[in-house]
Amino acid sequence: MRLRLEMELRAAIINGEFEMHYQPQVDSTGACTGAEALVRWNYPGEGIMPPNEFIPIAEETGLIRELGAWILTEACELASQVDIRNIAVNISPLQFRQPDFVDTVKNTLANARLDPSSLIIELTEGILIENFEDTVRKMDSLQKLGIRVAIDDFGTGYSSLAYLKQLPLDQLKISNDFVRDIATDPNNAIIVDTIISMARHMGLKIVAEGVETNEQVRFLGARGCQVYQGYYFSEPLPKALFIEYLESRLHNRHSLPAVT
Ligand code: C2E
Ligand code: CA
Repeated sequence: MRLRLEMELRAAIINGEFEMHYQPQVDSTGACTGAEALVRWNYPGEGIMPPNEFIPIAEETGLIRELGAWILTEACELASQVDIRNIAVNISPLQFRQPDFVDTVKNTLANARLDPSSLIIELTEGILIENFEDTVRKMDSLQKLGIRVAIDDFGTGYSSLAYLKQLPLDQLKISNDFVRDIATDPNNAIIVDTIISMARHMGLKIVAEGVETNEQVRFLGARGCQVYQGYYFSEPLPKALFIEYLESRLHNRHSLPAVT
């Protein structure tokens, strides 16, 4: 099964079977201020395959290098086309470890005519801790170019606060896993509370993902979360629908529940 998937993945890259979806990010005024780019595989005859089912194989086989480069190009071109100021792109470990990673990002931005300050690179905690020196060097180079870096799914990995403060970071993303039960699970509520207050003290922007309910928006808003992402506002949308969404939202913000 795995071998078959690997062969199909190789063919899929050649046949252009991948497509990008974009999930809106909304600020505390209800305005859409950005989006996260999420890849999908339009699997022949079977429909859309979610990334959790093929990204790990692409990573293990090295195919993520090619796929990742395509994803970055697509996302930057879209952001340039619709003039989105915050486009977040997931970067896999193998992709980040490429010696020419920073140059590739720089060239992709130049080709897409996208201002580096519009791009946010999302890295997982796992990437940050392995080969710390290389990580810091690359993050410094990205930041010097004006590109921002976010830690994805913060709190689910092994970040230690000691080195977190040594990293040139801009954002923390609070994982779906914590947001899901904040209204019902006191432990998760405390974890989210702590992450937000820590991020605020470190001057980092906080993005909550997996936001689905009124209660979650209220809880997060009351604690100073600045950006929301989740089904409460919108699912990830295929490119054409995302462009329509942006047009319809131009003069029509989302309404947010009052924060108490
Ligand atoms: P992630 O970066 O944590 O992405 C967030 C996931 O949560 C996405 O799943 C998104 O569709 C889902 N989500 C968004 N809003 C809600 C919500 O309100 N409720 C719930 N339950 N889920 C929500 P998706 O698109 O299936 O992506 C899964 C993971 O696959 C991502 O997790 C990321 O780690 C990886 N991935 C996705 N696209 C890419 C990509 O382009 N490159 C790389 N390297 N990895 C990617
Ligand atoms: Ca992400």
